[in-house]
Amino acid sequence: MYPQGSRIGILGGGQLAKFLSIAASKLGYRTHIFTNQKDSPAIAVSESYTIASYLNYAALKNFSNSVDLVTYEFENIPSETLDFLVQQLPIYPDRKALLVSQDRMTEKKFLNSLGIETVDFASVNSLGDYNDAISKIGYPAILKTRTLGYDGKGQIHINKQTKETKIFDHLEIGPCILERKVQFDKEISVIICRSNNGTVMGFDPGENVHSNGILRETTVPAKISNDLKLSAISVAGRLVNSLNYVGVMGVEFFVLKSKRLLVNEIAPRVHNSGHWTQNGCMIDQFEQHIRAITDMQLGDGSRHANVRMINLIGDDINHLGEKTMGSSYIYGKQKSTPERKMGHINYVTQYSV
Ligand code: ADP
Ligand code: MG
Repeated sequence: MYPQGSRIGILGGGQLAKFLSIAASKLGYRTHIFTNQKDSPAIAVSESYTIASYLNYAALKNFSNSVDLVTYEFENIPSETLDFLVQQLPIYPDRKALLVSQDRMTEKKFLNSLGIETVDFASVNSLGDYNDAISKIGYPAILKTRTLGYDGKGQIHINKQTKETKIFDHLEIGPCILERKVQFDKEISVIICRSNNGTVMGFDPGENVHSNGILRETTVPAKISNDLKLSAISVAGRLVNSLNYVGVMGVEFFVLKSKRLLVNEIAPRVHNSGHWTQNGCMIDQFEQHIRAITDMQLGDGSRHANVRMINLIGDDINHLGEKTMGSSYIYGKQKSTPERKMGHINYVTQYSV
């Protein structure tokens, strides 16, 4: 176990890093945020911070000298940054999980190799590839960039009427994946955690509502059968075990016909759909992550309440009104843009007795 007072370096300075910092401080650790953005909410709650490009090696060297281990709050960290840091100190979760999740093709192939079902997909690098892929996959479909997408960015929805020029323009961004657009009953996610010694714990699945590719709300318990709940947690467990993973991972699923589970994607980090744990569990996802990476015992993450988590996106933050009755988390970002996550609110709808 890392002794009290150890320093945890966090790559990224957004709201996830902010809550990780608070959790680390609760457990007696200090944090150093490394971010490339001035308007970074995590800075306010960390012992130290660096604002520099992720490719500024002098800054990375100072950062690595000042911390004992490194974690991160987003997946799209340049591989050069990781190559540099991994020579100096441990990074949790490790490279393997990032390699799998940074590229949607690699991710889906990896899932399928474990016998985990996904939507049908095909690699698309040119209009020729696209024509082959769409005849195999059919309409409707979604064309996604293989890397760098988040919150629905880098995706276009395709039907028979979609013009070829739109496809062409999208392919200009970079290599893509074409996915069958499935009609799901609902979307759920499992926040799973694995410690260095192989202990695995999964939080209760949450039911997620997205619009425009952005998570709007998560409700627990998800309205699914007990069998499905157990299957989702066991799939997530297989995933973290197969990667010898250390830390928290978010696993997103589509539920088809109330009983079939497809994994949509995995995120090797704490996850927006796990924010309900802040008010629904004694040990939330952030504390669990810090416990895992510092080699502490994992805590009791069982759910003691029904919770509805609502994201405050863009202008929502200026119309809080009665919403402040819930447990409110305001990220403190200076600039609000229409699709930017500015905060969230947890409503405890019922306590379990
Ligand atoms: P991101 O990395 O931006 O979260 P996702 O692949 O999770 O990307 O897509 C965001 C949302 O778009 C999903 O949560 C889901 O609502 C919808 N979506 C994505 N892929 C599909 C698909 N193949 N079929 C149906 N809906 C999809
Ligand atoms: Mg997603």
